[in-house]
Amino acid sequence: MDKNINDIIRQDLARFRGLLKQYDNFYDINQLHALAKYPFLLSYPQVKKHWKQYIDAGIRNNKDLKNVDLYLHIPFCRSKCSYCLFPSMPLKGKTQAEGYIDYLTEEMHFYSNAFRNIEFRNIYIGGGTPSILSSAQMSRLLKNMFGYFAFRKNGQRTSECNPHSASKPVFSVLRDYGFNRISFGVQSLNTKALRVNKRDYQDFKVVKQRISEAKRFGFTDINVDLIAGLAGDTLEGFENSFTKVAKLKPYNIVVYGLMPPRNSYLADNFHMNKYDYFTYHYPPMIKKALRVMAVICRKYGYIPDSLDPSKFHWGFRDKGHSGEDPGSGYTGEYGGCTLGLGSFSRSHIHGLLEYRNAQYVSHFNLRDRLFEAKKITLKDEMAKYIINCLDRESRISLSIFNEIFGDNLIKVFPYAIYALKQLKLIYYAKDNLIFRFRNPEDKYIYGLFFLK
Ligand code: SF4
Repeated sequence: MDKNINDIIRQDLARFRGLLKQYDNFYDINQLHALAKYPFLLSYPQVKKHWKQYIDAGIRNNKDLKNVDLYLHIPFCRSKCSYCLFPSMPLKGKTQAEGYIDYLTEEMHFYSNAFRNIEFRNIYIGGGTPSILSSAQMSRLLKNMFGYFAFRKNGQRTSECNPHSASKPVFSVLRDYGFNRISFGVQSLNTKALRVNKRDYQDFKVVKQRISEAKRFGFTDINVDLIAGLAGDTLEGFENSFTKVAKLKPYNIVVYGLMPPRNSYLADNFHMNKYDYFTYHYPPMIKKALRVMAVICRKYGYIPDSLDPSKFHWGFRDKGHSGEDPGSGYTGEYGGCTLGLGSFSRSHIHGLLEYRNAQYVSHFNLRDRLFEAKKITLKDEMAKYIINCLDRESRISLSIFNEIFGDNLIKVFPYAIYALKQLKLIYYAKDNLIFRFRNPEDKYIYGLFFLK
């Protein structure tokens, strides 16, 4: 019996490695499920019907419908940075942004009656570059959004901003609508890395000024994103960027390890393929960067969430500031739902459906739009939770899992647990299941056992 199971584990492992080799989207943990692809297409009315079904059932069964978030995608940027993994494109002019706001407004109007009994919890405006909108455009967008939907007073309201397009009038509009969190994409302050990655418009003085303005406007949470390992950067360059940002004292800093957007990015800049990058280049580079981060955060009063090298991103919170979890970007919460609006947005109806709007913004006609979708079960939700835990900290609390899902992780995933034990990749420490992964690739390969 055992021999058979061990053969199956070996075969699965070989299959998972093969799957990952073919997978070109590199290692975005949220994309892992996409290995199973989106198997069918849905129209706007069909999507709305699913939401109504979920909300009506929730109301009928007295279920808690308080954890529904709203995500708005603004797909425009000043120019396209070479390392960028996000769905975005250069803005072609004021009219394009105006047309896009009309389109978003049409979407809001379309969904508004289905959500009339919902108070959204958190709002996240991501991109692209939301701050590329003028203050008048941002104001129109938010006025429409608050006209069509209701929001809880104490939720997190975030807008991503590029320091070079964010302005006092935009901050002012965001504050008027209760936005409390700004996430600045800075990525690097190394001149060569910025040039190589087509972001050489970025200037430290502007970054400094924007962070200080955002503080003055009273945002309770100000985050800065950086990237370790960019093409054209060096360890010293990264150290310098991190130090300069830490001296500005944003409330949080999140550092991402470079996830190359395309094979050509690696071939052109690193002269290697994806396998060599993640096997030989990435792990030692990240370990060195983490040592640097540990020293700088001690010096400037930041607390790291963890310095685990098998993670993809590391959050640092200013000791003197009691803000949110430093790693809390837009991840959507477990047990929660997200209504995504706009091109490229993703939506999630808990235990029912995941879908994404994968279309470009070239025309804004709701009638012709189709979403790529897949049904999800409660077990899929659990697997997703586990994979997200692996992304964050290589451990899972069994009691928290039980609290969220009302079920026992070991019982729900007996094969994955058995396989990982056989491979000596997990052990128990009190209430926790600890994973011994060496690098991000491991998380993908072994995470697939939970999706089997
Ligand atoms: S500004 Fe941000 S979203 Fe836009 S291209 Fe650069 S990294 Fe991507």
